[in-house]
Amino acid sequence: MSQPVVTNPKPCRSLAVRLFSLLSIFLTRPFAMALAITAFATSAQAQSICSANGVQLQILGSGGPFGSGRASAGYLLWIDGQSRLMVDAGGGTFARFHEAGANLQDLELLALSHFHPDHSAELPALLWPQNGELTISGPSGSAEFPSVDAYLDGLLGPNGVFRVLNQRFDIDSVMIDVGSPATEVLSSDSMTISAKGVPHGDVPTLAYRVETSAGSIAFSSDQNGSDPSFTEFVQGVDVLVVHFAGNEDGSGRGDLHAKPSVWGKIASDANVGRLVLSHLMSNQNIENNVDALKQVWTGPLTIAEDLMCLEIK
Ligand SMILES: [Zn+2]
Repeated sequence: MSQPVVTNPKPCRSLAVRLFSLLSIFLTRPFAMALAITAFATSAQAQSICSANGVQLQILGSGGPFGSGRASAGYLLWIDGQSRLMVDAGGGTFARFHEAGANLQDLELLALSHFHPDHSAELPALLWPQNGELTISGPSGSAEFPSVDAYLDGLLGPNGVFRVLNQRFDIDSVMIDVGSPATEVLSSDSMTISAKGVPHGDVPTLAYRVETSAGSIAFSSDQNGSDPSFTEFVQGVDVLVVHFAGNEDGSGRGDLHAKPSVWGKIASDANVGRLVLSHLMSNQNIENNVDALKQVWTGPLTIAEDLMCLEIK
């Protein structure tokens, strides 16, 4: 199984700031300022895409619904320098999307997992004020939650809140029945994407799996980890991104989020190449939860940060 390599683990901007601080010690201020500005520009360019070649996963938002400085859930898949897939569009991902240098016109799919705001509130901001075509997938609905079609109609339809976008975008929606077995969402020259319903309280929610020529990536979304068929769905993936939002001591919403040890068992049983912890919440003791995870999972582990890139190879 191929192993991803963590590249560019922090936004380059902080490196530029640190460089400026060091330069200031040794150089006169105007000269140091000029050099630092040059370094910033170079870093910003380097940050614009993860890499011009290959396949990379970039974290847009590593946070959950509680404000912590992290954007809420969102991920990009870069293929040969183009942003081909976005998964989830939580609050703050609009800013991260553009910081990453991503292009809406390059997206083959925007894959939404469910209709909690920390996963799907940013769509109108992402679209405005652009034009074009976009395919958006999402779950079927329930009595309490809209389907992806109802969500899109409520936002962008002729009577939607943001009907100003209605004539600007040709949206093709793909609705996945959360009660069905794993279902193919899209297949193209660059990737094949499938989706499957996962247990997240009463919220219809989808996990996604992506196959590329370089490797495979799966996104757990929010779920309590109680459906064994999810382990089959992610069997053998090179990278599994899980939403690390449950506490090992059982506090919080166990009906919504898996405990760390549950994630560890799923990753072990599915023989995944690397586990990425995301959807990190400021109201939790993340360190304690990571310790609990490590009792069960001893394989490669990454704690997500906004704008981090993971090379898939
Ligand atoms: Zn969430």
